[in-house]
Amino acid sequence: MPQTVQGVIAMAQGEPVTIADVVIPDPGPGEAVVAIQACGVCHTDLHYREGGINDEFPFLLGHEAAGVVESVGAGVTETAPGDYVILNWRAVCGQCRSCSRGRPQICFDTHNASQQMTLTDGTVLSPALGIGAFAEKTLVAAGQCTKINPSAAPTAAGLLGCGVMAGIGAAINTGGVSRGDSVAVFGCGGVGDAAIAGAALAGASIIIGVDIDDRKLRWAETFGATHTINSADCDPVEAIKALTNGNGVDVAIEAIGLPETYRQAFESRDLAGTVVLVGVPHPDMTIELPFIEMFGRGGALKSSWYGDCLPSRDFPMLIDLYLQGRLDLDGFVSETIGIGDVEEAFTKMQRGEVLRSVVVL
Ligand SMILES: [Zn+2]
Ligand SMILES: [Zn+2]
Repeated sequence: MPQTVQGVIAMAQGEPVTIADVVIPDPGPGEAVVAIQACGVCHTDLHYREGGINDEFPFLLGHEAAGVVESVGAGVTETAPGDYVILNWRAVCGQCRSCSRGRPQICFDTHNASQQMTLTDGTVLSPALGIGAFAEKTLVAAGQCTKINPSAAPTAAGLLGCGVMAGIGAAINTGGVSRGDSVAVFGCGGVGDAAIAGAALAGASIIIGVDIDDRKLRWAETFGATHTINSADCDPVEAIKALTNGNGVDVAIEAIGLPETYRQAFESRDLAGTVVLVGVPHPDMTIELPFIEMFGRGGALKSSWYGDCLPSRDFPMLIDLYLQGRLDLDGFVSETIGIGDVEEAFTKMQRGEVLRSVVVL
């Protein structure tokens, strides 16, 4: 029997979100219905509402979630009812040319549920990142459910489903940060602070947070930044060189998605250093860089997509580190809110007042 639950819907571009009844079909083959316990409010949800991702309105928002699998469809082996899971937005296929070469973390054919969730009048909903978790329940592909230790608080665990994983993975998976490395992170919001936490976990000895907002720089310190630079007051490239014997950092992580800060990251790395882009640029942006520097400095210019994570490998491991007190996921939770408070949370996020507002269901 299909179920009707409440969900947060973006009906039209730029309009405030509303709460509406959402019809959740029973899970079909390869699908699961998950009872959501908590879901973080991410910039991507706001981008959907503003029409910045596509125009397939209405959207069922929410995608950084933890919950319990309620039911599964025929043939599902990945998860079972009662599993406590983080939802991921990249259910790997196991068969594409990347998976078949042993690189499932960059699967080229990830998938979502095949059935659709609708409003009660039959209007088809587009779930954000194939999840749609600002709702009491949602329908996903079974492979989007990653089982974790049930002792982890859902408010903290859900954040690993998107932004926090993107940041930690940008440092550890993409940037390959290792013990003794120097690291600079441009942009100290949720993703940037997660990159700082990841660099600290990996044993980086110098971790420099760069932002134009002193409040964000204080956050960066709580996640492990050894130094902070307010780039409104000085040239961050010079400041980073001054902190690294004139050399620059081994890994420079850009967590904003702007040409100006990317260029700063590019210029603040040491010889053979790595630049990691995890901030999402606007489609219209272009960048100009000195070509000879690209060659002459060696190293690598990389992009990090979802932190190059493999959910089945990374989520349970990071939850274990969280439960051991080695990864402060709770520190990303600025406030817990109700399902009716998402619009207000967008405003706070735009003002830079919160790292994450988390909807508790
Ligand atoms: Zn694949
Ligand atoms: Zn997100």
